Amino acid sequence: MSYRVTLIPGDGTGPELVVATRRVIEATGVPIEWEEHQAGLEVMEQAGTPLPASVLDSIRRNRVALKGPITTPIGTGIRSVNVALRQELGLYACLRPCRLYPGVPSPFKNVDLVIVRENTEDLYAGVEFDLDTPEAAQIAAMGKGKIRPDSAISIKPISVTGTRQIVKFAFDYAVQHRRCKVTAVAKANIMKFTDGLFFRVAREVAAGYEGKVEYEERLIDNMCMQLVQKPELYDVLVLPNLYGDIVSDLAAGLVGGLGVAPGANIGDSAVVFEAIHGSAPKYKGLNKVNPTALILCGVLMLRHLGETDAAQRLESATAAVIAEGAQVTYDLKPTRDDPTAVGTREMTDAIIARL
Ligand code: NAD
Repeated sequence: MSYRVTLIPGDGTGPELVVATRRVIEATGVPIEWEEHQAGLEVMEQAGTPLPASVLDSIRRNRVALKGPITTPIGTGIRSVNVALRQELGLYACLRPCRLYPGVPSPFKNVDLVIVRENTEDLYAGVEFDLDTPEAAQIAAMGKGKIRPDSAISIKPISVTGTRQIVKFAFDYAVQHRRCKVTAVAKANIMKFTDGLFFRVAREVAAGYEGKVEYEERLIDNMCMQLVQKPELYDVLVLPNLYGDIVSDLAAGLVGGLGVAPGANIGDSAVVFEAIHGSAPKYKGLNKVNPTALILCGVLMLRHLGETDAAQRLESATAAVIAEGAQVTYDLKPTRDDPTAVGTREMTDAIIARL
């Protein structure tokens, strides 16, 4: 039986990374029928939208997608396709495992974190009011002098439903993957209602896992410091959307950078696998960037499909190529201008040879 998977190449360096990932997955022997769909600025002209309905239909049908990064132009009013996909498909959990593989340049030795980021609300809800609009003026008036009249305003909704869902996801993940501890992270000393609600609901959920998984809380600023001082003390972290976004990049930095950090956006009816990194447009078409992050997304996808043996083989082959350190991209060399660095294609070839 072959699996049907929606494949979104994305833009910038996305298409070359997607080709690399498709090649290694095919080399594992797992039969996959790829249903390729385009999304992003490049389809805007023909389709009138950067996220055509056909893309969403395909993911809903197949329930699994592998996606390259998509550029979000700044300040144009065009909504992020990445955010829209998560909201349209109800992909409420963003899973970002950050493991340090031997051979990756990093000042740390022992990092194996899993970041669980809420994906649908918080300051990412897209409820914003621009400077000089009646809505911004109305909200500024409600602020009773706390909001300057020349403000643009973003609304930060944090719901009981969204928090319960994401914290439960983090605990269930911990149980299934034999993880010991979940740390909830927010700034409840300052945002007493929104982040306060996040901690309160997290505590209620944690009570249901007592004796199985440990629970603790950290303030976001202190968490950032602790992660760069003693990351080995942490296991699974659960955070609201914006903090989760920032801490994911921080944790990616601990394990060697964006080039090696995979991710998955998970809902009850679909999962979209995508790297943490963006489209790195300055490297587009240069056969330069590291395919590891998206390849590790492929590992997560194979596990999700139940192909655990293929997933393990692909992860081991990737780890072996990194540990050897010869056939790796510039970001995995001791210095970024190392002339022995290879390109995306060559590193992919080395992983396939290992398989
Ligand atoms: P970026 O992640 O694209 O790149 C930042 C830098 O990180 C790059 O210049 C490069 O030095 C490094 N990098 C990224 N990926 C790498 C890889 N695979 N190998 C080696 N080095 C790598 O971040 P950005 O420049 O802030 O964003 C570019 C565009 O991507 C923006 O439009 C942004 O909105 C979008 N974006 C998309 C997604 C997504 O599709 N999920 C995620 C983040 C950013």
